Amino acid sequence: MRLSMDTRIGFGYDSHVFSPGVPLIIGGLSLDHPEGLAGHSDGDVLLHAVTDALLGAVAAGDIGTFYPPNDARWKNADSAIFLDTALEEIHNAGYRIANIDVTLILAKPKISPIAADMRARVADLLRVNINQVSIKAKTPEGLNLDHVAQCHAVALLRQISEEEGLKAMEAVIENQRQLEDVVDDLLSSVHGVPKRRVDPVYDTDDIT
Ligand SMILES: [Zn+2]
Repeated sequence: MRLSMDTRIGFGYDSHVFSPGVPLIIGGLSLDHPEGLAGHSDGDVLLHAVTDALLGAVAAGDIGTFYPPNDARWKNADSAIFLDTALEEIHNAGYRIANIDVTLILAKPKISPIAADMRARVADLLRVNINQVSIKAKTPEGLNLDHVAQCHAVALLRQISEEEGLKAMEAVIENQRQLEDVVDDLLSSVHGVPKRRVDPVYDTDDIT
């Protein structure tokens, strides 16, 4: 469903319990820590909150709508998959990310020494610049929740202009052509397969 507003805002929240013997993954990074976040997937509390913020911004439900926790397919799943679904949803609705702002709440480990790496990783996963991603962290002061990691995320989206949409499409087509050229070259050099003479036909239905 294509929405028609200049900007949209979304909020996401998530929490997971620390558990021994589980790898700790936050913001798509593996962190060296004796405990990890227990969850059906990889327990990435940050990516889950961001996924919900993105889905919320285009009123597309939440992470559970797309990936029910009782579905065995998503056991130990890489949470980047959830994020990709959210990116697809906002793109289909006609939006791109303006910026996201995240607050992690956890007693340990300390996030500040790795916050820059984490921002870079999340920006990568979201396919935006690092200056569009803010990650802050606090300890759960007075909450008595040292065994839990919580995350709050806000996402601001901006409508994709027709010009931007066309540019993005051109880039995809350009990449596909380059890829096919490389494959053709490889095939002809390795197997002596002659280069394809006919240009591939693109599905113009998708370019409307
Ligand atoms: Zn979660």
